[in-house]
Amino acid sequence: MSKRFAAGAVGAACLSTILLAQPPVVRTADPIKRGMQLTDFPRTINIADNVYTYEDFHAGPEKFTTTNLFVVTSDGVLVADGQGSAAETKGLVEAIRKVTPKPITTVVIASDHGDHTAGNASFPAGVRYIIHPTSKAILDASAEAAAKAGRASGWKPPADAELVADKKTITMGGEEMQILFLGRSHTGGDLAVWLPREKILFLSEIYLNRVFPAMRSAYPSEWLKALDRAEAMNAAIYVAGHGFTESGAVSQEEIRNYHKAMTAVIAEATRLYKAGVPVDQAATQANWGEYASWTLASSQGPIAIRKVYEELSGRLK
Ligand SMILES: [Zn+2]
Repeated sequence: MSKRFAAGAVGAACLSTILLAQPPVVRTADPIKRGMQLTDFPRTINIADNVYTYEDFHAGPEKFTTTNLFVVTSDGVLVADGQGSAAETKGLVEAIRKVTPKPITTVVIASDHGDHTAGNASFPAGVRYIIHPTSKAILDASAEAAAKAGRASGWKPPADAELVADKKTITMGGEEMQILFLGRSHTGGDLAVWLPREKILFLSEIYLNRVFPAMRSAYPSEWLKALDRAEAMNAAIYVAGHGFTESGAVSQEEIRNYHKAMTAVIAEATRLYKAGVPVDQAATQANWGEYASWTLASSQGPIAIRKVYEELSGRLK
């Protein structure tokens, strides 16, 4: 079932008591350190009237969430991002059905990576997909390559998917929603969903909450500019594509912290590059400071170094 953040659910009279009694939020992507059980997931969180996030675990030994957004309107449901397998995205579809009988009509591909798209076949047939042209080209090419190699191809966007290269405003059931490209970030075709009425910004993989900056297909310096733009929007709630959904003020602090982490990781990789440390030796010499404890630091650290070296040497187009 869905849960509502405490501040929205309790009356003003008892608010202070409840806030005092609650332990502070543990700032981590790790569910156990956060004081939760693995069996608490997947879960649906009601973050505003008709706006929800859905969190299920990313595949792999290190547990952290892949987080989706959905908006319920009288004209149907808009979903931003899916999960990484047909079974997991079926879980998302079923969770939405528990909240509303309204059909899913629109799916935004905010990140084209498989952990957000590979389960898209579980969305109802005929839904409208919204995608950045770069992401559409990437998914089309990888499906084609898979077909040529005789492998099972991943999910491929339909030919009539709507392309958003910059900005598109859509209105469903009187709810205005903006689909925004804030610049190349984690994938090159990253889209964000902005809800002006609630001031909620879903950033997908532009914002990884307490997850080490993951740069396999990233554009490091442009990603920082996208985070500048996101923060300048002064959202009431920033929602990350990985890591936990946070309440308003905490979400504002955490996007700032993520921005700081990106800046620090790029600075450290730049230091190593300028010192002439070969890329294959740089990871052992990197000092990530406090970010060494963030989820995925050991696997993503060397990848971040490689990508920053690529950009600094002019090989990243
Ligand atoms: Zn991802």
